Amino acid sequence: MSDCIFCKIIEGEIPSEKVYEDEEIVAFKDIDPRAPVHVLVVPVEHIPTLNDIEPAKDALLGRMVLVATRIAREKGVAESGYRILMNCNKDGGQEVFHLHLHMIGGRNLGSMVRRA
Ligand code: AMP
Ligand code: ZN
Repeated sequence: MSDCIFCKIIEGEIPSEKVYEDEEIVAFKDIDPRAPVHVLVVPVEHIPTLNDIEPAKDALLGRMVLVATRIAREKGVAESGYRILMNCNKDGGQEVFHLHLHMIGGRNLGSMVRRA
């Protein structure tokens, strides 16, 4: 999609620090890291949100998770631990509407969610 920042990163039109790339998935460092390791794993295909994944594409999510675990090992946080998360739409805190998974680690992230 022409006005999508992650599509532009995938195409190389916007610079990024890529840490993984294949024909289906690209991973790059988050520009505003919340921890020493913060990588975004994105499909090459422009899929806006989790809600837009068709059943036929379910394998994509598994591949994204596997890429994230591989990067966690490479970055040395597999044993200390890390968090994988995906935000969906407004209440989920999604800011970029190109599907992505966050892999965050390198410090103690505490409990999973703050109590409301
Ligand atoms: P989300 O809130 O789940 O949509 O997360 C979007 C993430 O994209 C945020 O953590 C941003 O810091 C990150 N981000 C935005 N622009 C860029 C960029 N140009 N390069 C790398 N990460 C970015
Ligand atoms: Zn896109």
